[in-house]
Amino acid sequence: MAAEGAVEDTQRRPTAAGDGCTATRLERVLTSPQVRSGYASLLVQLAALIVLSLLTVRGPRTGRPLALVIDIGTGDAVDSEDGRGSAAAAHPAEAAGAEAPAADIAVVTAPATEAAAVVEQPLVEPSAEAGLPTANAGLVQPVAHRPGAPAAPGAAIEGDPFAARRRFGAGRGTGAGNGAAGASPASDAAVERGLAWLARHQATDGSWRFDLADCRCDGACRAPGTLSSTTASTGLALLPFLGAGHTHTAGPYQETVARGIYYLLSRERTTPRGSDFCEGTMYGQGVTTLALAEALGMTGDALLERPVGGAIRFIETSQDLHGGGWRYLPGQAGDITVTAWQLVALKSCQLAGQEAPSPTIAGIRRFLDSVQSRGGSAYGYRTPAAKPATSAIGLLCRVYTGWPRDDRRLRDGLDGLVRTGPDPQAIYTNFYLSQALLQTDHPGWPRWNARHRDQLVALQGRAGHEAGSWWFTDAETAPGGRLAHTALAVLTLEVYYRLLPIYSEDAVRRGF
Ligand SMILES: [Zn+2]
Repeated sequence: MAAEGAVEDTQRRPTAAGDGCTATRLERVLTSPQVRSGYASLLVQLAALIVLSLLTVRGPRTGRPLALVIDIGTGDAVDSEDGRGSAAAAHPAEAAGAEAPAADIAVVTAPATEAAAVVEQPLVEPSAEAGLPTANAGLVQPVAHRPGAPAAPGAAIEGDPFAARRRFGAGRGTGAGNGAAGASPASDAAVERGLAWLARHQATDGSWRFDLADCRCDGACRAPGTLSSTTASTGLALLPFLGAGHTHTAGPYQETVARGIYYLLSRERTTPRGSDFCEGTMYGQGVTTLALAEALGMTGDALLERPVGGAIRFIETSQDLHGGGWRYLPGQAGDITVTAWQLVALKSCQLAGQEAPSPTIAGIRRFLDSVQSRGGSAYGYRTPAAKPATSAIGLLCRVYTGWPRDDRRLRDGLDGLVRTGPDPQAIYTNFYLSQALLQTDHPGWPRWNARHRDQLVALQGRAGHEAGSWWFTDAETAPGGRLAHTALAVLTLEVYYRLLPIYSEDAVRRGF
C-alpha cells in the first residue's frame, strides 16, 4: 500500500438537476417542497393559534366545544440526505487516492389527511442556523425532484437530498432534526474549525494546492503535500464545504466555494472524449467531477450541467475496457483507489440528474471481482492481496454497486475491519470504513464511531496557523499533505449528514 496513494471520498447527493435550470430562482424557491411544506406548516400554526385564541376567549363563555378542522390538503414534506466523497491524494510516482461517496436519499412523509390536522414539520428547516444570513434562505432551496421519482400529491416524493447538510452551525450532526446521529458538539465544532483552516489556505486564484503554495500560509504550516494536480487538490478542498451545505450560491463560505468552482471550470479541456479535468491523473478527474456534480446537485445551477456531462463522458471513455477500472492515465489497468473515485463521482452525477452509463458500472463490478479475496469480503489494490484500507474501499464500492446491506460478504468484511478498532492515524482506512459502517448500519458502528470521532477531534491542530488542520502519519495519503489530511478528516466528521442513506427506499429503487 505504501505505493498506493491517496485517499478520497465523497458523497453524493441526489438532485434533480434539470428542474432548477430553466425555472427562475424565485420559481424554484416558491415551488420547493420545503418552502411549500413550510407554508403549509405556517398556515396550520396560524390557524391553530386562531382557534386556540377563540377557545381562550370564547370557549369558557359559551361552553361550546369548537371543532378544530383544518384542511390543508396534501402537504408533502420531504427530506433526504446524501453523501459524497471527497478526494484524496496520490503518490507522485505511484498512485493513490481513493474515495468514496455515497448515496441517496431519504424519503419522506406526511400528507395530512384526517380532518383534524396533523402536519409533519419538515425535518429540516429551510435555513436555520446561526451564521447563515437570512437573505440566503431562498437560495438554499434544493432542486426539486429527481428524475423518475414519483411526484403524485400526497405520495412520498423526493426531497432535498442535501437537506441535512443545510443546517449550518453546531448540532447538525447530532441527530437533532435530521436523524443523522453520531456527531458530538465537539466534532461539529471541529468541522467548523477545519473549514475555516481550508478557507484560509485557498490560493489567490481560487484553487487549493497540496503544497500550500500561493496562499496566506507562506510556510507557516508544516507537512505540505507534494502532489501537483491542482484539480485534485481544489476538488478535494471543496468537498468538505459542499458536505457541510456551503455552495457557490449560499452560505457563509459562498465566495470561497464560488472561487474554487470557477477555478475548476477554468481547467476544463474539451476533448473528443469528453471534458478532461485530469491534470495528469485520473484522481483529478474523479475528484473534480465529484465536486462539480455535488455543486450541481445542491444548486441546480445550469452553468454546471455541460461540464458535468462532459466529465462523465471522459470518465466513461477512460475506463480500462478489459479490466473495468481506472488508474492514473486513461485506459490504464485500474487500481481500487482511483476506481473508487470514479465510482463515487458517477454516483454523484446520477444523483445530480445525469446518467451514469450502465456498461461503465458493470465494468466496475468486474474490476472489484478481480481484486477481491475471501469470497468478496476483502479487497486489494490491484490484485487480491488485501489490506485494511483497500478492503474498506472495496466494501464501500460494493455497497454503491448494489450489494444489499445484509450481504454476508459485506458483513464479514466489515466485522473483521471493525474488530481491530480505529487506528487514529489511519485516516485513509477510517475515511472509507466510517462510510461503509454507517451505510450498512453495522452493529459495530456506534462504538467504533464514538472512539474514532473523539480521536479525530483530539488530533486536530490547535496552535498557530495549523489550528483547525490535521496531519497524520498515514503513509498512503502523505503525498497529499496537510491539505488532503484536513479535507479527509473534515469529510469523515461530516459523515453523519454528508452521506445520503444508500439503502433508503428511493436509492434502492434507483440502483445504478
Ligand atoms: Zn498555514
